[in-house]
Amino acid sequence: MKNLFLIGFIISLALSFNAKEIRVGLFEKVNIKKVDIFYNIGRFEFYSESETYGIMSNKNDKISFESNNDKVKAYMNGKYLGDQIWFRLDYRSENNSVIISNGKKKRKYKGNIILYSINGELKIVNEINIDKYVEGVIKGEAGYGYSLEYYKVQAVISRTYALHYQKHKQEGFDLCDHTHCQVYDGINYKKTITQAVEATSEEVLVDSSLTYINTLFHSNCGGQTVSTDFVWSKKLECMESIMDTFCLNSSQAKWKKTISKITWIQFLSKKTGKSISVVKSNDLNFNQFQRKEFYEFGNYKVRLVDIRSNFRLKSTYFSVHDIGDKIILIGRGYGHGVGLCQEGGIVMAKTHTYKEVLHHYYKNVSIMPISKVEYYKLF
Ligand SMILES: [Zn+2]
Ligand SMILES: [Zn+2]
Repeated sequence: MKNLFLIGFIISLALSFNAKEIRVGLFEKVNIKKVDIFYNIGRFEFYSESETYGIMSNKNDKISFESNNDKVKAYMNGKYLGDQIWFRLDYRSENNSVIISNGKKKRKYKGNIILYSINGELKIVNEINIDKYVEGVIKGEAGYGYSLEYYKVQAVISRTYALHYQKHKQEGFDLCDHTHCQVYDGINYKKTITQAVEATSEEVLVDSSLTYINTLFHSNCGGQTVSTDFVWSKKLECMESIMDTFCLNSSQAKWKKTISKITWIQFLSKKTGKSISVVKSNDLNFNQFQRKEFYEFGNYKVRLVDIRSNFRLKSTYFSVHDIGDKIILIGRGYGHGVGLCQEGGIVMAKTHTYKEVLHHYYKNVSIMPISKVEYYKLF
């Protein structure tokens, strides 16, 4: 842990010369002790805090790293090189790449690779141009099969998210590579994704105070998105509720669930603190033509988000129908309903530009390049 300051200093020194780079912790889903790095393309300078080991440029080159408390042991083609606080592999040109294997998974990465150890856990950090990172994220998060215009929407969202959230500063990097931050498993080879990222290069979404917004999204809003205070507590102006017709015919637009009436009543009794007989005496039917925050019956109300999490419902956008010994919920949409509706965005992007899609789902925001945001922030 004591070495973290030093590691942070080394990394920030490198970053200060290129503000567009981002640091991603790799293989972060599991605790890693050992990793192998294989040559793939180009040339990499290999060095540590006190030694230079030369260039990694041979197709058979393999460097192994192993955590050793707060240090890292390195082996080049089987030969022990010693233990150091950190090691780095710096690329010579942009298309250079290495293959990293944790013994189970092998992935290809561009950018620089930094290795250090925190309390016996090996940290593998990929220092990479933010656009190249975003390409990998779109591949990991959205997958293949979407239109160029929709990938542009995803590119701006992922790029903004990466700058909004920096959850791993304490560990010496910005984001991890799994669902906790954004799924990123290395180089993207899909041409449409590369084109989308290049066409929107550096573009991000900021609010009126030039803050990178929290680009929340969900699968399908069911026809209306939800304002953030209905789901959490804080109201965010850039995520106002909007009407959305683009998602109405998509796969997650509708759902239905049947629940036994006694289970329903028991839950309401617990939430309201009223006896089962008091709850039972009320009319339990409920309609939601427009999004509401509460399920209301008689003089009582229960937050829709609480009902959703208790019964694992697809959304909070549902009506309640009392049919004797059962309750039928007729629902719309899938997900929390805040921000971009993905299925709506996919349809909208067929006839609209990515900028129109972003402004439809996010309100009071501007789309601008990172460099411009950083420049304005100086004043
Ligand atoms: Zn994370
Ligand atoms: Zn929608």
